[in-house]
Amino acid sequence: MRGITFLGDRELELRDFPDPKPGPGEVILQMKASGMCGSDLHAYRASRKGGGMAAALGLGGDGGPVIAGHEPCGIVAERGAGVTEAEAPIGQRVMQHHYKGCGLCKHCRTGWSQLCPHGIVVYGMTGHGGHAPYMKAPVRTLVPLPEELSFEEGAAVSCGTGTAYGALKRLDVSGRDTLAVFGQGPVGLSATQLGTAMGARVIAVDISPERRQLAKEFGAETVIDPREVDPVKALYELTHGEGVEAALDCTGNPEARLAAVRSACTWGRVCFVGEGNNVTIDVSPDMIRKQLTLIASWTFSSVGQEECARFIADRRIPLKRLLTHRFELEQAADAYRLFDTQTTGKGVFTF
Ligand SMILES: [Zn+2]
Ligand SMILES: [Zn+2]
Repeated sequence: MRGITFLGDRELELRDFPDPKPGPGEVILQMKASGMCGSDLHAYRASRKGGGMAAALGLGGDGGPVIAGHEPCGIVAERGAGVTEAEAPIGQRVMQHHYKGCGLCKHCRTGWSQLCPHGIVVYGMTGHGGHAPYMKAPVRTLVPLPEELSFEEGAAVSCGTGTAYGALKRLDVSGRDTLAVFGQGPVGLSATQLGTAMGARVIAVDISPERRQLAKEFGAETVIDPREVDPVKALYELTHGEGVEAALDCTGNPEARLAAVRSACTWGRVCFVGEGNNVTIDVSPDMIRKQLTLIASWTFSSVGQEECARFIADRRIPLKRLLTHRFELEQAADAYRLFDTQTTGKGVFTF
């Protein structure tokens, strides 16, 4: 079969890989949808000299060619030895929690295998992911996809949208909050949609007019263009000079991170989910003097992934509107070029 592999320096290749065979405890997924996520762009843009994509995200790996795609969604096609019918019925609609740990430590046993101290595989980064017709995965990484959600929506939940949900949960967002979301890419737009469904008054910040327009459609009460106005000042004006109760940075941009911290009110909460890069914070005035809580959130547990999907299904959140671009694998080069240079909603490979 053929799968997409990132070569670094904005090049990729549709390369031949052997068809996967399931080992003990594993299944083969027939892919139906495989999403494109912001961290794929880090991998796509990573310099070859710097060790390529996994190194760019601090995830290790041996640098060998890996099938990209860490938002896999499909059906169970084949079971390996020891996997029972009850665990993975053939044809079951599933998402995949895209990490493998030891399976035994406290983090693995609570569904947070990405926190395993014994070394992890990140599918689509250090292990073969979803940008291919088939994928091998441990049965314990499967997460059932609710009937109400499409495979494309399941792919979104498998990283970008699930990450937004995980961050909003860490922020404990409710209807009492004004929530500022910095960056309206696929994670930020999901946070706007989900934060609105959780009852918050959402203010969305992004430099792109297309994304601000999508944010409005997804429930943002107000949108801010940080190139037109100082977002911190604007957020204070929108909150009677107090600042927002909760702020979420989905950009990874140092200025946006600082603006998120500074826009929070006294006793406010701030969460960083945008990857990479750095930030300099003036700790006393920006944090200590206002009793700030600063949270860093990395994706979600396998249980959280299931919960996110259920939340979206039960509240009939139109997540499908986030998916603005559909591609076939053969269009991979154009697909990633488009996402590297344009500001759109979310792209997904369909099979
Ligand atoms: Zn473990
Ligand atoms: Zn991701």
